[in-house]
Order: sequence, then C-alpha cells, then structure tokens
Amino acid sequence: MHKPALPQEGNDTFQDQIRIVLVETSHSGNIGAVARAMKNMGLGNLWLVNPTSFPDETSYARSSGASDVLDNARVVSSLDEAITDCVLVMGTSARGRKVPWPVIAPPDAARKASEHAPAGPVALVFGRENHGLSNEELQRCHFHIHIPSNPEYSSLNLAMAVQVVCYELRMNYLRGLEGGEGSPYLKAMTAPGDAGWDVPPAPVNDVEGFFSHLEQVLVDIDFHRRENPRQLMTRLRRLFQRARLDQMEINILRGILTAVQKSSTGKASLENASEADEAATGQE
Ligand code: SAH
Repeated sequence: MHKPALPQEGNDTFQDQIRIVLVETSHSGNIGAVARAMKNMGLGNLWLVNPTSFPDETSYARSSGASDVLDNARVVSSLDEAITDCVLVMGTSARGRKVPWPVIAPPDAARKASEHAPAGPVALVFGRENHGLSNEELQRCHFHIHIPSNPEYSSLNLAMAVQVVCYELRMNYLRGLEGGEGSPYLKAMTAPGDAGWDVPPAPVNDVEGFFSHLEQVLVDIDFHRRENPRQLMTRLRRLFQRARLDQMEINILRGILTAVQKSSTGKASLENASEADEAATGQE
C-alpha cells in the first residue's frame, strides 16, 4: 500500500465523545468482540450496563488485542447512569415497535453523532442478545437506528451490529478529514495518475510511439496488413487506452516488440531479445 498514514488515532474529540453502551450483555465473548470492533474503527469508549459476566477471560480472549478498550470500560448499574450527561442518545433495534419512533439508518446516525459530538457525549445503545432493548429503554433515545437487514431475519449478532454502526461512524469521520477533502484512504487507486500509483502515467507521445511500433511489428510478422486493416489497430488502441499505461509498462511493451523484431528477422537470438527487454525496463 502506498497510502499516506492517517493522523494519530484516538486523540480526537469526536472519537472520545462517542460512547458505545451495551445493556445487560449476557455473553462476555460478545463484549470482547465489541471492543475489537470498536478499536478497529478507532473508537474506545465502552460502557457496560449490568453485564452478566465482566471482566472475564472470555471477553479478553475475544477482544483479540483490544484489551485496552476492556480495561477502560465503565461498568454501571443502569442505562440512566450511562446516558445522563449525553447530548444525543441513539438506540439500536432489529425490529419496529408498537409506537413507531424516529428511526434512521447507520449513515444518518453517524452524521448526527458527528454533529452533536462537539457539544458533549453521544451514546449509541445496544441491547441484550436475547431480547434487545426494552420499550422503556428505547423511549430514552432521541432516535432509533435500524440496520436495514433482511426483514425475514433481521437480528444481527450484537458485536456485528456494533461493527456496522462503528464502520459508518468511521466513514463519516474519514470523509471529514484533510481539510474537508476526506482521507486518502477513501480515494480509489485504480490506475496511473491516481494518488499512490508507483509509476507516472505515460505521456501521449510515448503511447503513440508504442502504437506505431506495435503496428510495425504486426506488419513484420504478417499478422496485420495495412491494405486490409479490419479495425485491428482501432481495437488494440482501445484495449491499451483502457489500461491507462504507465511509463514502465510502455518500456516493457517496447522491449517486447524490439525482441520480437530481432527474433523474427533472425538478427538476434532470444537471449539478446531478453537483454533488450531488460535494458528497456531497467530491471535485472
Ligand atoms: N432479539 C432481539 C435482537 C437482539 S440482537 C430483538 O428482537 O430485539 C442484539 C442487539 O444487536 C440489539 O439489541 C441491537 O442493539 C443490535 N441489533 C441487531 N440487529 C440489529 C439491526 N438489524 N439493527 C439495529 N440493531 C441491531
């Protein structure tokens, strides 16, 4: 990867202000998996409301190196305690409730979280593995977040639901970096000219030189007849233009063409041809 490094993780107001709250988690392995999911996404502020078993070996084993998140986790005895100082509370739910509540998808939740974070802590509340959050708990929330899963099978594993929401928080955070242009991590690198590609794109002049050379070789080896071109060069041009050749690739292709010419005219052995290739590409 040639992507520039991100700014230092974890010392950002936004990341400090996001509080992941797990209510009465019964499997401590899930708590560990949540810690891992959070740390992967640059978050570390975990609150546990009445966990059945914590801390324990299973949670640390499943955290897989995110033990600092578990070490710093706050254990409290009620949801109220976990959210009392928060300026925004969003509860997650796998299904609709009797009285519908304002419900948003994870990307909107991430936007709202980042809008509110400068004003104070933002809680994202996740429910019990067996029956989620109670109606009373959900009514403590400004919004409900629903991950738009398969309606026939809508309930995700707790840690996976946390992962999805934290991923959206991170995407939103990365988009806001670098003076509003977003993080280099979000930019695709697919061809020469894109940030991070290792060799500069070939200039037009070099590409045209290659096409002329290619055409000449195809004539030399009787593959192409200029009097009956059959769109051959058009199609080959389209092929290579689609590839967006870089300077090194042009050198390699020119080296191959030179080798073909030498070997087809019997002027040189294959050995010489490969030397020509090496000379052209500058590689050993
Ligand atoms: N059986 C429970 C779901 C428990 S899943 C129920 O029907 O409510 C455990 C937790 O994972 C949920 O409380 C919620 O916090 C989260 N979760 C699972 N699937 C979700 C989804 N599709 N959208 C939002 N949160 C989800």
